[in-house]
Amino acid sequence: MGEFDLIARYFTRPVRRAALGVGDDCALLAPAPGMQLAVSSDMLVEGRHFFADVDPEALGHKALAVNLSDLGACGARPLAFTLALSLPRVDEPWLAGFSRGLLALADSHGCELVGGDTTQGPLNLCITVFGEVPAGQALLRSGARAGDDIYVSGTLGDARLALEALLGHQQIAPDLLAATRQRLERPTPRVALGLALRGVASSAMDLSDGLLGDLSHILQASRVGARIDTSLTSALMAHRNAVADPELLRQCTLAGGDDYELAFTAPPVQRAAVAAAAQASQTPVARIGVIEAEPGLRLVDGQGRPVENRYASFDHFG
Ligand code: ADP
Ligand code: MG
Repeated sequence: MGEFDLIARYFTRPVRRAALGVGDDCALLAPAPGMQLAVSSDMLVEGRHFFADVDPEALGHKALAVNLSDLGACGARPLAFTLALSLPRVDEPWLAGFSRGLLALADSHGCELVGGDTTQGPLNLCITVFGEVPAGQALLRSGARAGDDIYVSGTLGDARLALEALLGHQQIAPDLLAATRQRLERPTPRVALGLALRGVASSAMDLSDGLLGDLSHILQASRVGARIDTSLTSALMAHRNAVADPELLRQCTLAGGDDYELAFTAPPVQRAAVAAAAQASQTPVARIGVIEAEPGLRLVDGQGRPVENRYASFDHFG
């Protein structure tokens, strides 16, 4: 099977929303009048972002999920995506599984594969997503203000627990590994929540590298600080009862990585609107702290006592 047969077989589908899909030199997108295009890329490299033996269907899901997560963080509606693929060899069962996972998630979000590139080389995937958002309404990192509440969607830390177990750093029971591994390998992009938070949240971002490190990007962009209650963040790990070590619980929830939840801020007058957005998008949302004028990130326990912050987030070159 050659390059073009491979593209035709696994990555060519009719398009409905895009003006032109796979097959020409460029795809053509037609955003509606008054809309801005939201564009984001994420690359997944074998050995860095996934294990060589990962289920290809899960990998296809995750490759697109992490990109849709960025659109969700901006409050953008998914339109289309491109796929740049470097493959060591043509492995048809692998390609079938990968494209199945990829396109199932794409279909569930109405996000069309419109083009890409395919080359031979080490396994490496890069997806670029395109979404649309009414001009001026994108959720940005720079809008947090002192006094705003800080929220996180869904759960935190379970993906990290699975990673620690897969790396051999933690011994966990097989059923717990199976459950947490779902969170690591099949994250749920919070697109519906992001859409519902337009006009409600003052800032937002998605969590890929760990809560505290990612939150510091909002704090820097908004030139503010924050106080986080670690008893509230610890409560967000779905499998927290399986973690006996409180230090490991904090590591997973505060600096876990791979959560793909949204962190966002909103002024207290928006509490009812945030609850309505959570309900409309069927996404749990929890308040974990407050934005303060004083720069820096302050951690406290459930009684308001300071907790030392030594939870660095993931940095490829750190
Ligand atoms: P070009 O030579 O103009 O770069 P290619 O020969 O690389 O185009 O690709 C042919 C067509 O197939 C293009 O429309 C391109 O967007 C599409 N394509 C290539 N690889 C992929 C892929 N992995 N997924 C989807 N579309 C792809
Ligand atoms: Mg060309």
